[in-house]
Amino acid sequence: MENVIAELSEIVGPEHVLSGADLSDDYSHDEALSVEHQKPLCVVRPAAAEQVSRILRLCTDKRVPVTPRGSGTGLSGACVPVPGGVVMSFERMKRILEIDTENHIAVVEAGVTLDELNTAAAAKGLVYPVFPGENSASLGGNVATNAGGMRAVKYGVTRQHVVGLEAVLATGEVIRTGGKLVKTSTGYDLAQLIIGSEGTLAAVTQVIVKLVPLLEHRATLLAPYKSLVEAVRAVPQVLVTGVGPLMVEYLDQFTMMAITAQSGVDLGIPANVQSDAQAYLLVVLEARTAARIDEDVELAGRMLSERGAMDVYVLPSNAGTKMVEAREKAFWSAKAAQASDVIDIVVPRASLPAYMERVKEISMRHAAMIPGCGHAGDGNVHLAVFEQDPDKRSRILRDLYDSGRALGGVISGEHGIGTAKKKYFMALEDPAKIALMRRLKSAFDPAGILNPGTVFD
Ligand SMILES: Cc1cc2nc3c(=O)[nH]c(=O)nc-3n(C[C@H](O)[C@H](O)[C@H](O)COP(=O)(O)OP(=O)(O)OC[C@H]3O[C@@H](n4cnc5c(N)ncnc54)[C@H](O)[C@@H]3O)c2cc1C
Repeated sequence: MENVIAELSEIVGPEHVLSGADLSDDYSHDEALSVEHQKPLCVVRPAAAEQVSRILRLCTDKRVPVTPRGSGTGLSGACVPVPGGVVMSFERMKRILEIDTENHIAVVEAGVTLDELNTAAAAKGLVYPVFPGENSASLGGNVATNAGGMRAVKYGVTRQHVVGLEAVLATGEVIRTGGKLVKTSTGYDLAQLIIGSEGTLAAVTQVIVKLVPLLEHRATLLAPYKSLVEAVRAVPQVLVTGVGPLMVEYLDQFTMMAITAQSGVDLGIPANVQSDAQAYLLVVLEARTAARIDEDVELAGRMLSERGAMDVYVLPSNAGTKMVEAREKAFWSAKAAQASDVIDIVVPRASLPAYMERVKEISMRHAAMIPGCGHAGDGNVHLAVFEQDPDKRSRILRDLYDSGRALGGVISGEHGIGTAKKKYFMALEDPAKIALMRRLKSAFDPAGILNPGTVFD
């Protein structure tokens, strides 16, 4: 193993191989609540695709596991290292290579964060519209998890915005797939296969994404409901108006109280309404002109009222921004409240009312608290499970996943399988599909060194 460290040092320089006392605990985990931290042999920090290629070739030859790592904000334990393995961190690959204002494309290295990309794009009147709630996440990590987030209801997820990749296979071969293209029909779409593969098929070194023009006018509507089921039942109706909301989020009462207490946001809603409300819809609209936004607010507000909202509040712009920021931080509130796990089942959005009924029934049957919030417009719920006993928690999770699947849903809408959900994925997914995935994995990574333990053992 000392040889491995010496050879890695030759590739990237000794100062970019961290081991022993230099190894911070940060590299031993992501943000998943239920996954144990693991110390790697070392962390290697390449600066270019050519170095990534040499590292992977070396690790394939020596059969050393490699865990790619972006910013470590993942929620499924997918970048938790294998003991004795190497963490390959993309923190030095941070160049924004191009913001192309004519093709509306950005070309970035994998370690560039969402924040950095959006600062550069905004200077040119553009935005990368995918908005997974943590701005410090890297584009490489976003690609590997197929990150979604609050704006997916309007713009789609990472998959719909990546038009090309540069990636390195475990053998060290560098491939470029796609490009600054609106379309391609030229053989298998390898970029789409790598997206969502959680670092198990290839190391992504460069990402080419679509940008969209920034729309200046925004409005935030908050609609309280007497029940959670009523709140989510209104979602398809809001979408059918054609206002094309930027966000349609739900929050149950527990979550709303937790995030407002933590962020200090004043909803400006009468106390009696707040105490009666069991759930809220948070709807954000955006448009090119003030007149258009007024029209859309009127229409969406009317639709929410007709569909059972106790009232509809248009938040002042500052309060609207704060409310969205508080919602983004719901995970931290759940963590502070000592949630044992946060999961992200997705069902068809019209099945959300039925799913919420089942969650309530599961919560009562197991006598466990399961509050949540989520991207209601996508049918994607983030449930915080409060149950310290691992066996009991496992039974609760299995019930939640089974119920979601019975309604046509899947285990993860955006956080991925990682190490945290692997046993449920294996138990519930079609064996023929798993077998095909395994064959694809060995075509990309014959020695099985890339992120072993994530998705598959
Ligand atoms: C408060 C909070 C809110 C969040 N909200 C959302 C949300 O709304 N929607 C959402 O989708 N996610 C959300 N997330 C999860 C997280 O931000 C995303 O999963 C993000 O895409 C992870 O990016 P990262 O750079 O931190 O990746 P990491 O956590 O470092 O890694 C995640 C996966 O990507 C792989 N990987 C990283 N870089 C590369 C690379 N260059 N090549 C190959 N594989 C790589 C890793 O091996 C691992 O499998 C949230 C997280 C937090 C903490």
